[in-house]
Amino acid sequence: MKPFTYTRATSPAEAAAAVARTPGAKFIAGGTNLLDLMKLQIETPAHLIDVQDLKLDRIEKTKDGGLRIGALVKNTALASDETVRRDYGVLSRSLLAGASGQLRNKATTAGNLLQRTRCPYFYDTNQACNKRKPGSGCAAIGGFSRQLGVIGTSDACIATHPSDMAVAMRVLDASVETVKADGATRSIPMADFHRLPGNTPHIETALMPGELITAVTLPKPIGGMHLYHKVRDRSSYAFALISVAAVVQQDGTGRVAVGGVAHRPWRVEAAEADLPRGARAVASGLLAGAKPSHENAFKLPLVERTLAAVLAEAKG
Ligand SMILES: Cc1cc2nc3c(=O)[nH]c(=O)nc-3n(C[C@H](O)[C@H](O)[C@H](O)COP(=O)(O)OP(=O)(O)OC[C@H]3O[C@@H](n4cnc5c(N)ncnc54)[C@H](O)[C@@H]3O)c2cc1C
Ligand code: SF4
Repeated sequence: MKPFTYTRATSPAEAAAAVARTPGAKFIAGGTNLLDLMKLQIETPAHLIDVQDLKLDRIEKTKDGGLRIGALVKNTALASDETVRRDYGVLSRSLLAGASGQLRNKATTAGNLLQRTRCPYFYDTNQACNKRKPGSGCAAIGGFSRQLGVIGTSDACIATHPSDMAVAMRVLDASVETVKADGATRSIPMADFHRLPGNTPHIETALMPGELITAVTLPKPIGGMHLYHKVRDRSSYAFALISVAAVVQQDGTGRVAVGGVAHRPWRVEAAEADLPRGARAVASGLLAGAKPSHENAFKLPLVERTLAAVLAEAKG
């Protein structure tokens, strides 16, 4: 690990300003992703600003009947929160499908959204990777791509976003609240938060340098049956090959987002109109334009079958 300096932030605005003005500075929250990447020298921050004292660890109702989840709420606390379990069950289920109990006790809401890809070539510093080293190429294209993306990919990167929680937040129409280095605040819809790779796969989100996530807000509950199915190589402690987050209403209408297929949680609102017609119709709209490799083409029928299982469970 490269040497680095460390301070603890005392206010969100000061933390954002400090990261923006300090060369090579990064925030650290639970550290469950960042520290692993530092040990491998994939991330080499010169200075860490620890945000854990910022008191952003509350879950509270909003005036319009929604929910505001502090950036530092731990994954365990969020999954077990009474309101989340009752009104946003897909979120609780997605969190419990991720990582392990020990990791969820440390991992935070913001850190989970910003965790980096699990592409094996990103982790191997002997391999070309445009995300790790812009302009160096992509060893995954034509390489081992079983876990990687099938849609929204580019000639520069075919990585997927690994978060389970983010897929549920996308289906719930969440927004990410932030404070920028100049103290200004803003709210970014989840639909716009994670970027597709394009020619700049190292730029993964809409965040500006130094911008700190302070919370995630959820609109008021929409009812329905909340489901999250994750398909993976092991039954625990493994990232999704594909996952399906869904909220299905009694009349068969609803919302669907898919994980493990793209650089961001994948949702196509127009395809949801086909939910009453069944999984095949929805999957074909969701995955129109997919460009799988020969190693991960299995993900396309797997999405359809998993969605069919979700819809069957919703019918009861
Ligand atoms: C073995 C293992 C298995 C896992 N399995 C799964 C899984 O199945 N599903 C899944 O979804 N996840 C899984 N994870 C990932 C885990 O969920 C993430 O590591 C965790 O959520 C990251 O949260 P953190 O608070 O520790 O983030 P950190 O490691 O502290 O930070 C991650 C990134 O977020 C930035 N950051 C942190 N807080 C803020 C903030 N408030 N504003 C702006 N930037 C910020 C940091 O600078 C850093 O770049 C696994 C992890 C491990 C190690
Ligand atoms: S798919 Fe993306 S993360 Fe993986 S090697 Fe290619 S550029 Fe790097």
